[in-house]
Amino acid sequence: MLKVKDLNVYYGVIHAVKGISFNVPEGKIITLIGANGAGKSSTLKAIAGLVRPKGSINFLGDELTKKPAYRIAQKGVSLVPEGRRVFANLTILENLRMGGFNKNPSELEPLYEKMFELFPILKERAYQKAGTLSGGEQQMLAIARALMSEPLLLMLDEPSLGLAPKIVAEVFEILKELNRKGKTILLVEQNAAQALKLANYAYVLENGKITLEGDAKELLENEDVKKTYLGEM
Ligand code: ATP
Repeated sequence: MLKVKDLNVYYGVIHAVKGISFNVPEGKIITLIGANGAGKSSTLKAIAGLVRPKGSINFLGDELTKKPAYRIAQKGVSLVPEGRRVFANLTILENLRMGGFNKNPSELEPLYEKMFELFPILKERAYQKAGTLSGGEQQMLAIARALMSEPLLLMLDEPSLGLAPKIVAEVFEILKELNRKGKTILLVEQNAAQALKLANYAYVLENGKITLEGDAKELLENEDVKKTYLGEM
């Protein structure tokens, strides 16, 4: 579905992503793991069109690298940004409405219902301002907002950030369920243990380069990964 080849991201003189290549096949969960500053967010931003990269990003046969972000979103790529970035002063329902930017008014109601089924907590709070939600609830809302456009590819930037382990488990359970229903997912995480348990295939990013890749369950057993990313001796 997504084929990234020789991707480079520069911020002035900083070379954040250094010629990485990876694939996201349809129906799979692929994860990019790595430490702070490894270039994970920059990679997702490049795919979403939020930074201008060099190299090739092919999505269902279309080259995305020169397209503006709104065109990429229209093609079916949706990003749940790091730190959720919900619209704090809008209600939950209004946040969902923003996510459904590509829908006719008549299509919205069934989509709201779908989101409320997936995230019952959002239904109870539909008319509450998003800024009043807890971190975990905001993460659920950010995911629901991204799903409102019915994307073909759902990308998430560190959904576990700042959440209690129990809430992280809930969020990852929802991702698993979405994937079971057919959603293709590209997940960026520092929480390597959770990400590797969930994903089919994983890439390890270090200083802007992919240093290791493989079946996610195999990487969980890899000694280097255990030492560096799973906190085991
Ligand atoms: P984190 O988990 O901390 O977000 P990351 O793996 O997602 O880490 P990136 O955010 O992609 O890493 O950052 C990669 C490198 O690019 C870092 O050295 C970072 O300081 C730098 N960088 C990121 N955004 C910018 C920017 N807007 N301007 C300058 N440098 C940036």
